[in-house]
Amino acid sequence: MFPEKLKSATIYSDFQGKLGTDAAGFLAALDTIMASDNELSRLITYASMRSDEDTRAGKPREMEQTAKDLAVKFTSTTSFMRPEILALGEAKVMGFVKEEEKLLPYKPWLEDILRYIPHTLSVAEEKIAAQALMMADASENAYSIFTNADLPYPEVTLSDGTKVRIDAPAYGNYRASPNREDRIKVFQAFWTEYKKFERTLGTTLYGQIKAHIFNKEIRKYNSCLESALFDSNVPQTVYKQLIADVHANMPTLYRYLKLRKRMMGLEKLGYEDLYAPIVKEVDLKYTPEESIKLVMESCAPLGKDYLTDLQMSFDKRWVDFLPTTGKKSGAYSTGVYGVHPYQLQNFTGQYDEVSTVAHESGHSMHTYLSDKNQPYVTHDYKIFVAEVASTLNENFLLDYMLKNTKSNFLPDLQNIQLIY
Ligand SMILES: [Zn+2]
Repeated sequence: MFPEKLKSATIYSDFQGKLGTDAAGFLAALDTIMASDNELSRLITYASMRSDEDTRAGKPREMEQTAKDLAVKFTSTTSFMRPEILALGEAKVMGFVKEEEKLLPYKPWLEDILRYIPHTLSVAEEKIAAQALMMADASENAYSIFTNADLPYPEVTLSDGTKVRIDAPAYGNYRASPNREDRIKVFQAFWTEYKKFERTLGTTLYGQIKAHIFNKEIRKYNSCLESALFDSNVPQTVYKQLIADVHANMPTLYRYLKLRKRMMGLEKLGYEDLYAPIVKEVDLKYTPEESIKLVMESCAPLGKDYLTDLQMSFDKRWVDFLPTTGKKSGAYSTGVYGVHPYQLQNFTGQYDEVSTVAHESGHSMHTYLSDKNQPYVTHDYKIFVAEVASTLNENFLLDYMLKNTKSNFLPDLQNIQLIY
């Protein structure tokens, strides 16, 4: 029923306690565990994408659950690997890599594990830390249950007479209403309700901060920031530079807000006006084919090779464009190592969705190129770099649209005179 390469739990536990014996045994263990990890992720992705095609269907959901249960078993039976590699230490592990050249592809992955040595505790301390971390989730869980289920979200009557319960998704939806009175009503109702529980919400936040400080202290990080960035291996200077760059460019945001205020014809721009459409009655519609054309044209600066691969992703139908009954909402790109990336879209023709095609195609191309050039063990990437590939494409599209859109509705944005 399961792929032949997925070994039974006893085979993994055969390696336990023996990773340090010799280079050949070390390689055999890593090869076996990685091959299973690859097979398992294929199983999970297949089952979850089948389930996303029609979320009402029982069979794919059952398949997904079975695959996930298998993943939990796999994780627990192979959980000895990381601490054992850490315990071997850098000299021994890198000695193996020198001795056995087939271990070379594992080098960056091993280095990434060994980075944790200064933040790893003794076996007994690790046990206590793991149990303490289970308690540390309590605040976050309480916040999540409270805001998702128990918070008594208010009901408002909109100007057309419809009554809506303003929970988080409805707030996200109705705060963008073109009708200002509705927007004000929605904002006030939503935030007044939150305000009533500020002591409770403040306490859950305090619990979360204490959990961060606990982790920083016991794992010997210099700051919570260092601890938060450690997994992604992002230097603090990069993080601080990003914030500094945002601050340095605030005048552009102020300029945009002034433009928004003027185009919306408002005396005073409030928080409740930030999500509303800036231009009234523009109804631009696109077909999937037009969206492909726009994304292809806008990505021209990335060069011929990139465009050839991108065109192939559309020609070979890696993208499921149209919404169907029961299909999972939203959009994503997901990779299957050794196959190709897949994209789910729910394309109804809005400009935002063209932008989503650009965004997800950025992820797909990143995955495609990474899978093509990296062995399984290093093919994956962190979210910090992932969103560079996707938002860059969104920016290319926006840039292209600003340069090429000719419309009776849209003012020529290049020539707008700004009043400061
Ligand atoms: Zn993304």
